[in-house]
Amino acid sequence: MVRENCWEYMGCGREAGGDRVHEFGVCPAYNIDKYNGFNAGRNGGRYCWMVEGTLCQNTIQGNWAQKMRHCLTKCEFFKHVQAQQGGSLKY
Ligand code: SF4
Repeated sequence: MVRENCWEYMGCGREAGGDRVHEFGVCPAYNIDKYNGFNAGRNGGRYCWMVEGTLCQNTIQGNWAQKMRHCLTKCEFFKHVQAQQGGSLKY
């Protein structure tokens, strides 16, 4: 079972075929297959806080250390995944 991915939840339009891909290209969270299945997501779609260079907030984000504070304390999608995954959440 694949659960809702960040691009679906956030409606960012930065997934392949999305309406904002022309701005910065496809977000790496959509393409990074080494995280496929993590937290029941497709690629980095439910593990995006660990993906470098994602495109949230309309900017090219940095690495995990640079993103972590925002993702883990302010991102509504992270809180959504955390609530759904409970004790099996992969950080
Ligand atoms: S990490 Fe952010 S910009 Fe990238 S696909 Fe997910 S919600 Fe969209």
